[in-house]
Parts: sequence; C-alpha cells; structure tokens
Amino acid sequence: MKKCCICKVMNGCIKHHKRYLPQEIILVCNNCHNKIHSNELLGVDSLTPSRRMASIFYSNKGVIRKKSNGVALRKLTYNEKKIKEAMYAN
Ligand SMILES: [Zn+2]
Ligand SMILES: [Zn+2]
Repeated sequence: MKKCCICKVMNGCIKHHKRYLPQEIILVCNNCHNKIHSNELLGVDSLTPSRRMASIFYSNKGVIRKKSNGVALRKLTYNEKKIKEAMYAN
C-alpha cells in the first residue's frame, strides 16, 4: 500500500498529473486529490499543471475539448501539436 504523497497518512490510490511535460504522476489519497482540484493546495510545490497543458494532453484528434462534456472548443495550433507529440513520446 502506497502512502499519499501529500499527507503521508492515507492510502495514495489516485494518480494525479503534476506535470505533463515531462509527465510526472504522483499518488495521492482521495481527500488530498479533492483539495488539489479545489485549488486549496494550489501553489504548493506547483501541484497542478497549467490548464493549457491539461487541455492539450486531453485533446483528441487534434481538437481541444471541454473535459466535462467533450464538446469541441478549438483546434490545436501547430505548436500545441508539437507539445502533444512530446508528451506522448515516452
Ligand atoms: Zn493525502
Ligand atoms: Zn488530479
């Protein structure tokens, strides 16, 4: 059983992306994960990647989509395509 990276108390069972390029994933507990995404822990050791990097990571078929419902927002720019390729390179 792995401990949560943040509180070191609970069971870290959720994979959270700390960075997308290079990919850096930490294991956190449900409690801390909620805090990360509710911005309570924002700014602490830069736990959350920028929204732009996240939307590039989760883009699909060259299109940036809303994470909640998959609605297409806009196409990736040339630079963003390059970033995405680098993210998936390893
Ligand atoms: Zn925790
Ligand atoms: Zn997360």
